[in-house]
Amino acid sequence: MISEEIMSKNDITTDICVIGGGLVGLSAALKLAQSGASITLCAPKETIKDERTTAFLMQTVSFFEELGLWAKLETKAFPLKTMRIVDGTQRLIRAPQTDFKASEIELDAFGFNLKNLDTLQTLNAEIENYKNIERIEGLIENIQTIDNQEQLTLKNGSRTTNIKAGFVVGADGRNSIVRHSKNVSVREWKYPQTALVVDFEHTRSSEFTSTEFHTETGPFTIVPHSNNKAGLVWMEKPEKVEELLLLSKEVMEKKLEDKMQSFLGKITLKSKPQSFPLKGLVANSFGEQNWAIIGEAAHVFPPIGAQGFNLGIRDIEALSEVLARFTNQENRGSQYDNARTHDINSRTYGVDLLNRSLLSDFLPIQMLRGLGLQILGSVKPLRRYAMKMGISPNL
Ligand SMILES: Cc1cc2nc3c(=O)[nH]c(=O)nc-3n(C[C@H](O)[C@H](O)[C@H](O)COP(=O)(O)OP(=O)(O)OC[C@H]3O[C@@H](n4cnc5c(N)ncnc54)[C@H](O)[C@@H]3O)c2cc1C
Repeated sequence: MISEEIMSKNDITTDICVIGGGLVGLSAALKLAQSGASITLCAPKETIKDERTTAFLMQTVSFFEELGLWAKLETKAFPLKTMRIVDGTQRLIRAPQTDFKASEIELDAFGFNLKNLDTLQTLNAEIENYKNIERIEGLIENIQTIDNQEQLTLKNGSRTTNIKAGFVVGADGRNSIVRHSKNVSVREWKYPQTALVVDFEHTRSSEFTSTEFHTETGPFTIVPHSNNKAGLVWMEKPEKVEELLLLSKEVMEKKLEDKMQSFLGKITLKSKPQSFPLKGLVANSFGEQNWAIIGEAAHVFPPIGAQGFNLGIRDIEALSEVLARFTNQENRGSQYDNARTHDINSRTYGVDLLNRSLLSDFLPIQMLRGLGLQILGSVKPLRRYAMKMGISPNL
């Protein structure tokens, strides 16, 4: 039992409390600290190594350039020059192979792939350089609004810290405590899919092409890490992924090589396969008064077209503009909500539609998907438009 006296020593007053130490929370803490505001960053110690790779599209690269961090991140980044879509279904109507080249829209690359572990390490190290960011380890358990101020309780084992904040940023992932505390309803849906993620080496060159095989159970995507290293994101039925995770290294390597029809040559696994159950979720409000939710606290969808984290970065940009423009006497959360509604909803529905069109056995849907890809493959202005929209809605 902690006495009142000890608890009061742990009380903190801050301008902005950022909750969550994932890619989005760390990026938000750094961006918001640029205004000089005092930032308290609350997150538990991470226990699981995140073996995923994330594609940074060019707008996200500019975000990190402005933070003065891109030069560090770039040393660990792999350019994404071509995106290839291959219809790997056995269906009657199949789309032709379609290549999207960054050079067609006058770019060297659509973006860069980075391992989450490398990005998290760089962001965490950078946070140590900021005097106005205080980091507290633990889980936020309670948030209340009292006298136009947010009051939070953080627990770390038996230790309790009380935090008073002028503004709360929930970057606390898909089960967000901020979202729950503020009674935000969500639209939530399931997919019959789990993503299997693993890194591997291959003997044939990928030429920096990201290849997405569209299969009946979802995309099977190979993301280049260098000419002979890549990451795989394989969306499959959950029961199939459970079986795959039990395979020995050698059997799994053979299985992957067969699945890729050996186009990358011999495969050698370089990480332990991990699984991520997939779902869709979008909050019905992204902010109100003195709070906002960003990243997966606000929107969750399947890993198609490298959208999730990049959308989270656009959340941070919008939030930082709102906090710079409006005072705490104005409804800053609601301003942020207005600024984000269109982009978040259109991305969520776009990705959902694409994923469902793959899973659907309904012939007219297959025809539409096949035709859509064929048109994108052959009509140049449409291809350019799709590529520009894919990397940023503002281009
Ligand atoms: C297989 C896969 C591949 C992907 N690839 C891409 C890609 O190429 N490009 C792309 O843009 N996106 C991609 N995404 C999506 C991207 O990974 C997510 O959008 C992003 O990681 C979400 O980060 P986040 O910080 O919002 O959430 P999280 O990473 O879930 O972080 C949440 C944080 O909040 C903390 N937390 C939770 N509850 C509390 C609490 N009560 N108190 C304090 N802290 C708390 C957690 O400990 C954690 O630190 C992919 C997703 C998957 C599944």
